[in-house]
Amino acid sequence: MTALHPDLEPVLDEVLRRNPGENEFHQAVREVLESLSPVVDRRPEYAQASIIERICEPERQIIFRVPWVDDDGGVRIQRGFRVEFNSALGPFKGGLRFHPSVYLGIVKFLGFEQIFKNSLTGLPIGGGKGGSDFDPKGRSDGEIMRFCQSFMTELYRHIGEYTDVPAGDIGVGGREIGYLFGQYKRITNRYEAGVLTGKGLTWGGSQARTEATGYGTVFFTEEMLRAKGESLDGKRVVVSGAGNVAIYAIGKVHQLGGRVIACSDSSGYLLDEAGIDLDLLKDVKEVRRGRVADYAAERDGATVISDGSVWDVPCQIALPCATENEMDEEGAAALIKGGVEIVAEGANMPCTPGAIRALREAGVGFGPGKAANAGGVATSALEMQQNASRDSWTFEYTEERLHEVMKGLHDNCLTTADEFGSPGDYVAGANIGGFIKVADAMLAMGVI
Ligand code: GLU
Repeated sequence: MTALHPDLEPVLDEVLRRNPGENEFHQAVREVLESLSPVVDRRPEYAQASIIERICEPERQIIFRVPWVDDDGGVRIQRGFRVEFNSALGPFKGGLRFHPSVYLGIVKFLGFEQIFKNSLTGLPIGGGKGGSDFDPKGRSDGEIMRFCQSFMTELYRHIGEYTDVPAGDIGVGGREIGYLFGQYKRITNRYEAGVLTGKGLTWGGSQARTEATGYGTVFFTEEMLRAKGESLDGKRVVVSGAGNVAIYAIGKVHQLGGRVIACSDSSGYLLDEAGIDLDLLKDVKEVRRGRVADYAAERDGATVISDGSVWDVPCQIALPCATENEMDEEGAAALIKGGVEIVAEGANMPCTPGAIRALREAGVGFGPGKAANAGGVATSALEMQQNASRDSWTFEYTEERLHEVMKGLHDNCLTTADEFGSPGDYVAGANIGGFIKVADAMLAMGVI
């Protein structure tokens, strides 16, 4: 663990005391505070106004019961969350996650990260996150719809175009956003397109939003390579996960001349030396909602390894696109042994602090999720722009805007890292760059 600035130790102690047992949240706060030492010394006005203490405390936390009826007529109870973390830069913005692991600590870590990520996009969005411990796996469309309707029946009173704008995350994609939007529209009697992002293309959704997180991660990786005078052309790439982020990261790597030879899901990892066939993967995962093992069964030369780690596959670029803490020190050591040059996080906090330390010590370029996976939420902000002006942009134009955001964000990380004495350190650049914008806005708005 890196030492904290002495002024920040009591701040972290208070976060630990006030949020007991929320390990992921503690981890996310510690990582940001570790980067802020040079800021504390240079900008004493932040301490005078207790800006860091305020940023660590959500503006509002909502927890609610979500009852729903399963296909057998059984009444089920889930817990719903929305943590409205910081609205200094714009309405709270961030996804909803439906997964059995969801509890307040997960939502708070994601909401906290979202503040800085959203700030880095340069677009006017605050940070928030929500979700439920509902497990969509194996549920029928009818069950998903009833759950979403029940969830929105409470959530609707807290959100709005100018207040809080949810979107998707793990377990929440186009289908769920459709049911959520339908219920919001029904309850409020308003066609308020800007209340949710990730909508369908015929009812206010943005082109390229589905692809945006994965594409953005690869655009960011491309910039990291460009900064070293290299490109993706001919690179061997390993991606973890096989969900929305992973699928479109694979697609963009292939478009830019790299070859993705492995990805994974909860059934194991898929190895396909010829390069992953994206059409087949999309059909298996998105249409059939199956496993990577189904892909291997249908594709010559592809295998599934169910008792290993995807990080054992030698590669030059690794993109963790599954979930938090999926790569530990051991995973990082395996990648280093396999010759990895760059790791960029497509998921939120997929690398443990030990993994990040090991990668840095080995001189591997590391792109933190706050920066490298900001493409999704950036395109959500572009969707909000289109909704506000009742406009609809082309795929090409929207993708170009996303590309510009990712380039700008990359350069901002490098410039900030340089300015604060850690040249080439994307973690410092992202944390400090994201923080300063929010902190200055909070200062300007007084004690609120
Ligand atoms: N869940 C995504 C993220 O982690 C997207 C959030 C959004 O589009 O609001 O950034």
